[in-house]
Amino acid sequence: MVQPRRWIDELLDVFHELDGIAHYKQVYETIRIRGVMDLTSNTNWQAAVRRTVEQYSSDSEAFLNKEDFFYTVKGKGKGVWGLREILQADEKRLVSKLTNEITETEIENIFEADDELVKKILSRINTIASIEERQVIIKARKASRAVISKLKQLYDHSCQLCRSNHNSRYGVNVVEAHHIEHFSISQNHHPSNLVILCPTHHRLVHAGKATYLRDRQLFVYENGYEETLKLNKHL
Ligand SMILES: [Zn+2]
Ligand SMILES: [Zn+2]
Repeated sequence: MVQPRRWIDELLDVFHELDGIAHYKQVYETIRIRGVMDLTSNTNWQAAVRRTVEQYSSDSEAFLNKEDFFYTVKGKGKGVWGLREILQADEKRLVSKLTNEITETEIENIFEADDELVKKILSRINTIASIEERQVIIKARKASRAVISKLKQLYDHSCQLCRSNHNSRYGVNVVEAHHIEHFSISQNHHPSNLVILCPTHHRLVHAGKATYLRDRQLFVYENGYEETLKLNKHL
């Protein structure tokens, strides 16, 4: 039987429902629950799902060279895929508008802080931002948190610049995610735009207005000081 809609359209909706990042297992489950696609006439529909994701991902050899919707979050073969673009064009415009009112550091805080702090920041921007702007921030927060937590796991919560890992001594994980191209400008939460840093290095990178040079895998600070990544598995 012909499917009621194209797999790619269903998958884009499914990934949005899953906040932009998911393991195949969650994708299958969500497709079942939604009940949109015909799963009875094709017993191997899961293969169709995987094939579709790969055809729309430049990370895959099966890429059709059309729209590049998906990326592998943990590298190939791990079954975790993310949506490259979680925000629509008009939502991106809202975010960039908001940046007149809140700083990059506050945006990054919103992505990582606990719910209480987020409420505080949001209530402050409440007076200046529309409901739509707040909703976009919340949407971006959900998607970014998922990516960020996967990346932190990848580095076992160590700083990519100095390797410091506070978990072994203090039993707490305090590393933070920094957006190489500021989120306020790029609205990009793809792993290739994120670096995991200890709080000190995160602060230094902002205060010292450091820029990241991809080809040399190092940060160069405003005063000319260069600092190479000591840990790098994804940049
Ligand atoms: Zn550090
Ligand atoms: Zn940052």
